[in-house]
Amino acid sequence: MTSFDYDLITLGAGSGGVAASRRAAALGAKVAIIEGSRVGGTCVIRGCVPKKLMMYAAQLGDAIHEARGYGWAVEAATFDMAPWAAQKASEIRRLEGLYRQLLNGSGVEVLDGWGRIDGPNTVVVGQRRITARHLLIATGGRPVRDSIEGIGDWPTSDDVLDLQHLPAEVGIVGGGYIAVEFASILARLGAKVQLFYRDRQPLRGFDEDLRTRVAQALEAAGIVLHAGQAPQRVDKQDDCYQLHMASGMTHRFPFVLNATGRRPHTAGLGLETIGLQTDAAGAVPVNERFETPVPGVHAIGDVTNKLNLTPVAIAEGRAWAEALFGGEAGAARLPDFSQIATAVFTLPPLGTIGPSEADALAAGHTLKVFEADFRPMKQTFIGGAERSYMKLLVDADTDRVLAVHMLGADAPEIVQSLAVALTCGATKAQFDRTVAVHPTSAEEFVLMRQPARVVKPGA
Ligand code: NDP
Repeated sequence: MTSFDYDLITLGAGSGGVAASRRAAALGAKVAIIEGSRVGGTCVIRGCVPKKLMMYAAQLGDAIHEARGYGWAVEAATFDMAPWAAQKASEIRRLEGLYRQLLNGSGVEVLDGWGRIDGPNTVVVGQRRITARHLLIATGGRPVRDSIEGIGDWPTSDDVLDLQHLPAEVGIVGGGYIAVEFASILARLGAKVQLFYRDRQPLRGFDEDLRTRVAQALEAAGIVLHAGQAPQRVDKQDDCYQLHMASGMTHRFPFVLNATGRRPHTAGLGLETIGLQTDAAGAVPVNERFETPVPGVHAIGDVTNKLNLTPVAIAEGRAWAEALFGGEAGAARLPDFSQIATAVFTLPPLGTIGPSEADALAAGHTLKVFEADFRPMKQTFIGGAERSYMKLLVDADTDRVLAVHMLGADAPEIVQSLAVALTCGATKAQFDRTVAVHPTSAEEFVLMRQPARVVKPGA
C-alpha cells in the first residue's frame, strides 16, 4: 500500500480550510494546512471581521449624533482613520494568532508558503515536497480585476480595509454586497460617496422592496446613486481615477473601489498537473461529496463558487471531514442550505432568509404578503428619519412562512433568530401564537395580522 506523509493536505487556511482540517484532525487524521498569506483567510483578515469593525466605527458616528437628542452634551466629533487602523491591525493579529493556536491545539501542522499541486497526491511548498492521501482545495476567492477595461490595479475591498486616512471623495463601482456596505460605511465616516451600478437598483437578486429601501437609505446618507450606469473604461490621470461612461461623461475621484465581484482563486495551484479543469467561472467543480473529478482531490468554499458565504464554507468543511474521516458513508451531512439567512451590513443593515417575492411567485406560490414600515421608537424620540421595513411571505395554501425580509436596526440579529423558525417549517399561525417581546422592533414579526396584499403567480 502506498504510504503518504499525511492523510490530508489542505490548501488555504481560511474559514473553510481551517474548519475542515481541525475536524479531520479531531477524527484522527494526520493533517497539514498550507497558507501563503495569513491564517484566517478572507473573512478574518480582509473581509467580514475588519469590515464589521469599520461598520462599528461608522455606527458610532450616528450614535454620537443621536446622543444629543437623548440629552447628552456632545462636543463636535471627528473621525480619524489612523487610530482605528492601528487598533484593527492589532485585533486581526490577535485573531490570526488565535486561529494558529486552534490549529496547533488540534494537531494540525501549519505550513507557511504558497502550496502548489505537483502531480497526484503531491504538493510543493517552499523547498518541501509532501504527499497526502487526500488533498482539499480551500483557496477561496479573489476580487475580479478584469470586469472593466483599465480596472486591473484599482483598489478593492482589501485596500479599503487597509486605509490609513479617510478619502474625501470615493467612487464605487458595483451594486453588490461589498459596494453597498462600503458606500454606507465610508459615507457615515465622512467621505462623499458616489455609487455606480448597472441595474435599476443595487443588490440584484434580493427582494425588490428591500432593494428600493436600501437605495433610499443610501441616498438618505448623502450617497449619490448612479443607477443603470457602469463605466465603459477607467483610467488614472494626475493621481485621479477617471470613470468613462457610455454617455461620454467622465467622473474623477481621488479614491475608488472596484466592487465588481469575486472569483475562485486557483491561479498557480498547479491544477493542470493533475488534469483538473475549472469550469467557465473558474471554479473547481465538485459533486455533493465535494469530490472533484480527480480521485483524492476535494474542494470546499468559495473556490467552488456555489454559495460564497463564510458560514457555508465552514459547514461544508466540517461535513466533508466527518463524511471522510468519521466513517460516515455517502454524501456529506450538510445543514439545510435550501434557505440560508444572509445579512448586508449597510447602515441600517439588511437581513433576509427565503426567496424574494418575485422568486416565490416564479416558483408557483400564491402569497400572502405581510409588511410593516415604521420609524423605530429610538428614532421618533429624536425626530430621526431612519425607518425599519419588515416583510413576511406566506404561502397562501399551506400557511408556511417562506421568507423573512428586513431592513432596519438589528435586522441581521433578528433574522438569524427567525431563521431557526423557518428551518423548522414554521407557519404564520405559529408566528401569530407567539407572544411579543415588548417594546422591541422584532415584535412586529409576530403582530402582523392582515396581509398587505395577496399575490398569485403570473398576476
Ligand atoms: P457581488 O457578486 O455581490 O456583486 C458584484 C457587483 O458587481 C454586482 O452589482 C454586479 O452587477 C457588478 N458587476 C460585475 N461586473 C460588472 C461590470 N463589468 N460592470 C459593472 N458592474 C459589474 O460581489 P461583491 O464583490 O459585492 O461580493 C463578493 C462576494 O462576497 C459575494 O458573493 C458575497 O457572497 C460575499 N460577501 C458577503 C458579505 C456578507 O455576507 N455580508 C459581505 C461582502 C461580501 P450586476 O448585479 O449588474 O451583475
